[in-house]
Amino acid sequence: MTRPYIGRFAPSPSGPLHAGSLVAAMASYLDARWHDGTWLIRIEDIDEGRAVDGAAEGILHLLAALGMRHDGEIVWQSRRKHLYEAAAARIARATYPCGCNRREIADSRIGVAPDGSAIYPGTCRHGLGPGRTMRSLRVRVPEAGQDEITFIDRFAGPVTQHLTVDAGDFVLKRADGFWAYQLAVVVDDIEQGVTDIVRGADLLDSTPRQIYLQRLLGAPTPRYLHVPVVRNSNGEKLSKQTGALAVTAGDEPATVKALLETAGFLGLALDPPQPESIDDFWRAAVPAWGRLLAQRDAANEFTAGFA
Ligand code: GLU
Repeated sequence: MTRPYIGRFAPSPSGPLHAGSLVAAMASYLDARWHDGTWLIRIEDIDEGRAVDGAAEGILHLLAALGMRHDGEIVWQSRRKHLYEAAAARIARATYPCGCNRREIADSRIGVAPDGSAIYPGTCRHGLGPGRTMRSLRVRVPEAGQDEITFIDRFAGPVTQHLTVDAGDFVLKRADGFWAYQLAVVVDDIEQGVTDIVRGADLLDSTPRQIYLQRLLGAPTPRYLHVPVVRNSNGEKLSKQTGALAVTAGDEPATVKALLETAGFLGLALDPPQPESIDDFWRAAVPAWGRLLAQRDAANEFTAGFA
């Protein structure tokens, strides 16, 4: 099983890491290590209005304390705006300036996307109306009938969306002047050569929009694995506070306990079940991840060959 593998963890520094992100971090790290691949960290601070001072450093500190060692340079989206600008220019034929505000879009009541946002009614598709000025930049999705995007998620199986009803023409550059997450994430994953995206199931709905942008940019689509958060062995649901979020470097027993707690939410069965050090934890967790993938493959024939 040798194939190039480049994975990444891409936290948004809008506050301390939350428990769901930590599960995603562990899954992406384990998948990269299981495949002898590269694991990158990218700080998604493109939404500068939401970035909290010190949050990125706190996240990096925590990942290091938990023993997740990244490869290569850490990249920061706030320093890569020229790349998003250039990508938007390359797909200019599929984009248009939009003068509508949130209220006008909500009032049109065309429909609501799975992520809860209102579907854009297409008002500015054929040009800005008289007296209107550009607020945002949107990408045009294909007409109904040609708007289906299907991909096979390594955990969730086949996922299909119709962009006209599940997304609508979506924003690439926001009214506040910042590049939108959907564009930035796609441009960065292409530019960094990411082959495998492992992240939380909350982003499953975004993936078809991202695949559409990859296609417009002429780039290959990576493999995807969206991790659902499972209940731990005590049947508990993930709470906002898991022990791992309060880890302090140097307290190894507490750190191992916290790692075990997060592994429990991923459904990992470690052997031995109670490793004594951080290194022992990862030594046991990587093959446990491999077993989890094999179980998924056995259950879902569509993922066979992806593990
Ligand atoms: N920055 C996103 C988040 O923290 C994750 C993006 C991704 O993994 O594609 O939710």
